[in-house]
Amino acid sequence: MPDKRPRKPAKRSAKAGAPRRGSRSARGQPGATRARAAESPAARKRRAVRILEALHELYPEATCALHHGDPWQLLIATILSAQSTDETVNKVTPVLFSRYPSPATLAAAPLAEIEEVIHSTGFFRQKARNVREASRRIAEDFGGTVPDTMEALTSLPGVARKTANVVLGTAFGQNEGVVVDTHVGRLATRLGLAWSAKDGKDAVKIERDLMELIPRADWTFLGHALIWHGRRVCSARKPACAACHLAPDCPSAGTFD
Ligand code: SF4
Repeated sequence: MPDKRPRKPAKRSAKAGAPRRGSRSARGQPGATRARAAESPAARKRRAVRILEALHELYPEATCALHHGDPWQLLIATILSAQSTDETVNKVTPVLFSRYPSPATLAAAPLAEIEEVIHSTGFFRQKARNVREASRRIAEDFGGTVPDTMEALTSLPGVARKTANVVLGTAFGQNEGVVVDTHVGRLATRLGLAWSAKDGKDAVKIERDLMELIPRADWTFLGHALIWHGRRVCSARKPACAACHLAPDCPSAGTFD
């Protein structure tokens, strides 16, 4: 990762609510909650804009890590990525798409054959049914073309708002929402950008908070960039706060020691 913003992480004093080492809050989230409580909405918005600017500098080319050649392939890959990793999905989709190169061919494929190909992604029986049925709907109801509206996409089996956001933002360039996966949920919480959510798993509230703070034109970028930062710097178990360029604007910085 290019080291473009050599900034020192901000120091958090005890007066500012820094949690004691070893306390529950020292593991991050409650400390961030206390810091957020004292912050005005205007100050939070200014801080969010600074974080966004830093993310643009750090990851100017942030994009979806799922390999795909068209919107249908991205949709199928995103359905397969649930409870899996992008790396695992990227290993199975070349085989899947070479055997079944279109919605119509996947819709006509025997379920057992799809299950065999996607087995390593987990929950393979349900996913096989979903990708086949979603492909059948696209072939029969949408003329073989993936629909480009939230309503139509979420009518497909296995497609909830998160998957639809991935497809709309990445394949169609539409900023309809922010993709909130496990990385985005965790980072939004640690960064104090999701003040109304109970925790990093409250995807609906996290997305709503992020949409309120971040300009619409950056909704898709924000999701990709937070995922990249979560993978490279702010991991679930061991966030590298000392090397993090977002630390000056992160209320959780240094609370994981
Ligand atoms: S790694 Fe960065 S974003 Fe994550 S908690 Fe530490 S300072 Fe905040």
